[in-house]
Amino acid sequence: MVLGMGFMSVTNLLKQSGEFHVPVDPLSVASHLNIEVYETDFTLEDGENVSGIVAVEDGQPVIYVSTRDPHVRKRFTIAHEIGHVYLGHLADKENNELIDDEVRLRSATWNLEEKEANEFAARLLMPASLIRGAIDRGRVSIEELAEFFDVSEQAMMYRLKNLGY
Ligand SMILES: [Zn+2]
Repeated sequence: MVLGMGFMSVTNLLKQSGEFHVPVDPLSVASHLNIEVYETDFTLEDGENVSGIVAVEDGQPVIYVSTRDPHVRKRFTIAHEIGHVYLGHLADKENNELIDDEVRLRSATWNLEEKEANEFAARLLMPASLIRGAIDRGRVSIEELAEFFDVSEQAMMYRLKNLGY
């Protein structure tokens, strides 16, 4: 996977936000970056099965996350949308808006922006060194690690695989 330069500094971003600990609060990171986050009930006008929308409104980055999604899904969506802002994905978008509906999220197999936003979210919520630390201290099952980092077991499984565990 080709990664943008923005990834070099995810750990720094966490440190600057005071969030280099477990679990990471993506809302604090958003706040540090002056990104507003709102929960909302998406309608069919927004798209089919929308989990998140990120936009720049009057120069202000804003993230909307679906009220209906489970807690861990909301956390990942917020981290993913922060990634879209942080990695500059909104620059060439019509209305400075990006809608993460079902179709767009599924495109992560080939869509570089979606891959990057997922990778950013994984690094933000599950920093490699903090995972190593947790494993060293005896948290070895996916269930335990997922609960500790407050992410889904699926996200943790994928992260561990990418880190070579
Ligand atoms: Zn996305």
